[in-house]
Amino acid sequence: MTDPAATPTRSARTCPACGGLACEASGLEPLAIADCTQCDHRFFAGALDADHVDHIYGDAYFFGGGDGYDDFLTERDLLWAQGRRYGALLAEHAATLRSASRSRNLWYESARL
Ligand SMILES: [Zn+2]
Repeated sequence: MTDPAATPTRSARTCPACGGLACEASGLEPLAIADCTQCDHRFFAGALDADHVDHIYGDAYFFGGGDGYDDFLTERDLLWAQGRRYGALLAEHAATLRSASRSRNLWYESARL
């Protein structure tokens, strides 16, 4: 059982990426998933145990197989290369993504009027 006093909480209405207004994503209940109205970031908006990251991403995740890696260190170079490839793709399309986000935000603003 989680001790509520020891559990860090995050507002379901604040985007952790940009600090913008976020709303619960519809159709995903009972999952606590929210969508940012400013940058489109979708994120888990529930409370996590303070040791959640340590519990999920401990040695068993990186070296135990299953849902994690059999041996992360042997795959490390390939994973880094793939990460750099995705980063380059995002950088290449960042201006388009920012423009699309601005257009969507203008639509949200006009829909509220
Ligand atoms: Zn955001």
